Amino acid sequence: MNSPEQIEAEKLLSVLFYSPNATAVYKGDDIRIISANQAMLSFWGKDRNIIGKDFRSVLPELDDQPFFSILKNVWDSGQTFTAKNYPAVLLTENGPQKFYFDFEYKAMLDGEGKTEYILHTASEVTERQNAVHLVEEKSKSEQKLIDDLSALNEEYLTTNEDLVSKHEELFTANTELLKIRKELITANHTLRENEKRFKTLVEKSPVAMASLRGEKFEVDIVNDMVLQIWNKDRSIIGKPLAEVMPELKGQIFIDILSKVYRTGQPYYGKEIKALIRNGENMTEHYLNFAYQPIVDENNNSTSILIVASDVTEQVHARESVMEFKNRLEIAMDASRLGSTEVHLATGAMESTPQFKYNYGYAADEEFNYSDLYNAILPEYREHIRGLVSEAILTNGIYKAEYPVKWKDGSIHWIQAHGRPRYDKSGVADRMVGMTTEITDKKLAEQRKDDFLSVASHELKTPLTAVKASIQLLNRIKDKPFSQTHIRLIEQSDKGIEKMCMLIDDLLNMSRLGQDQLMLEYNRFNLHEMLSKSCNHVRLEDKYQLILKGNETLEVHADEHRIEQVVVNLVNNAVKYAKDSKEIHIHTESYDDHIKISVQDFGEGISESVIPHLFDRYYRADHFGASYSGLGLGLYICSEIIRKHSGKIGVNSKIGEGSTFWFTMSEKK
Ligand code: ADP
Repeated sequence: MNSPEQIEAEKLLSVLFYSPNATAVYKGDDIRIISANQAMLSFWGKDRNIIGKDFRSVLPELDDQPFFSILKNVWDSGQTFTAKNYPAVLLTENGPQKFYFDFEYKAMLDGEGKTEYILHTASEVTERQNAVHLVEEKSKSEQKLIDDLSALNEEYLTTNEDLVSKHEELFTANTELLKIRKELITANHTLRENEKRFKTLVEKSPVAMASLRGEKFEVDIVNDMVLQIWNKDRSIIGKPLAEVMPELKGQIFIDILSKVYRTGQPYYGKEIKALIRNGENMTEHYLNFAYQPIVDENNNSTSILIVASDVTEQVHARESVMEFKNRLEIAMDASRLGSTEVHLATGAMESTPQFKYNYGYAADEEFNYSDLYNAILPEYREHIRGLVSEAILTNGIYKAEYPVKWKDGSIHWIQAHGRPRYDKSGVADRMVGMTTEITDKKLAEQRKDDFLSVASHELKTPLTAVKASIQLLNRIKDKPFSQTHIRLIEQSDKGIEKMCMLIDDLLNMSRLGQDQLMLEYNRFNLHEMLSKSCNHVRLEDKYQLILKGNETLEVHADEHRIEQVVVNLVNNAVKYAKDSKEIHIHTESYDDHIKISVQDFGEGISESVIPHLFDRYYRADHFGASYSGLGLGLYICSEIIRKHSGKIGVNSKIGEGSTFWFTMSEKK
């Protein structure tokens, strides 16, 4: 039965038959080929005979390809199948060949939804596919190329990165180099500046400076100060030092310079004497100097820098100060002057040994201001303190004399002079003091005072007697001559005699003091002189003067002075050995001297006083008995004998009398 759809299907088929698109129509389970147009037949490589036959039987070459089963599935399911670029291997004249198709198996359904036909449309896309493949291939190779390129690029990039980093490094290095170069330029500049500055420094330096180059010590840089010391001008620049200053030969300087140059060790000289030529003469200079070697990068000396100062004046000044100090010390030692400096705040003292000794301290003993005050006898302390305070107030010199008690209990007199010293703010902080021991002087003064009191007292006694006698004589002057006259005149005579003796002693003493006791030598007979002297004693019946010895003995001496000695000894015998009836005078002659002795038989002299008998003002104690006298007689005798180059002495024993003797070298 023919339905309108069928007719339309047939019409459609005829239309499809001429369609340039390959078309076929299938029907049934076995996929019978109802229609196939020329284009489809060409694909299959078949002719129209295959129409009406089933798909598998005419196209067995497609068995192992999925087409039949797809068609079967479309028939059974009524589901259209569409494919694009589907490959199919078809038989050609050249054997099986692969082609590509876009195709559709369209299920044409009946009214019940059952598959009635399958419309197969296909168009070959092999070329397009090939083109696609080609494009794919191309794109693949392109990709590879791209990959390669990108790999290459990456490598390039890496390399580039390296390069960049290298470049950066180079850049940094370059920057560094630039910096160093700049620094070098600056350094070089600085060096030049420094050199310039150094030169200026040397030239303008207030101390003598010079730089000597090389091992010949060529004068390189000098300033006026050094030229002045060397007594040279700038013409010496560039010449060796030894050449321009030949006087240095034999002096130590060139040797020292050589050593400094060789060892690279600097040398410092202190107050070294240099003799420098000044015209015809050599001038002595004392120099403080430093030789500083200047070394290159290998530590080799290239030059020596000299810095010097002329200290001649200071050295001379110090020498004269030392000389002055030495003289002062000698003078201070000789005069037993001690000096000290007291730090008033602490009481600490810096004292010379003599100063300490004056207060009874040894040189190594501690001695401070409180020790000094403690040594002063208490009753003097306040007075001294007052003097010191006043000196501080008035910036004056204080002078004082005071007794000090040594640790051994002995008393010594000190004469002190002091002067305050002030700090910068005008506060007295130190006291400079000098002391000397004046005990002897004080004793002498004491003795003088004692002597004057004794002398006036002794002179007063005979003077009173003479005065009384003369007053009495005056009263009876109108009366006739009487026994009283005689007695008074005799008393006056004795008194005047005593006064004369005392005044003689005083005069002799004062002559001795002024060294005016001149001897008048003459030759005389000793025995004669002795027998005539001491008549005043002989006249008194009380005593007997017995003269023994060679009567012809002659001596060369000051007769008057020798007689004075003998009279003095005889007078003493009369005075101190009252009960001795006999007084013996002996003369003895020896090879080169004669000896004269005066012997009494009085009470004698105690051994302990004998050594002092010939001292000035010495008078022994006679146990209550009082004798007129000044203690000068024996002293004057000893001085007369000393002037005659003789000796004087006494032999005595208590109870046995005394023998005073003296010797004279006999001048023939
Ligand atoms: P003065 O003026 O006291 O006599 P001198 O120097 O003559 O002084 O004598 C010193 C002391 O020596 C006397 O004070 C006396 O004590 C002692 N003296 C001197 N001669 C004798 C003597 N012959 N016998 C004992 N004592 C004597």
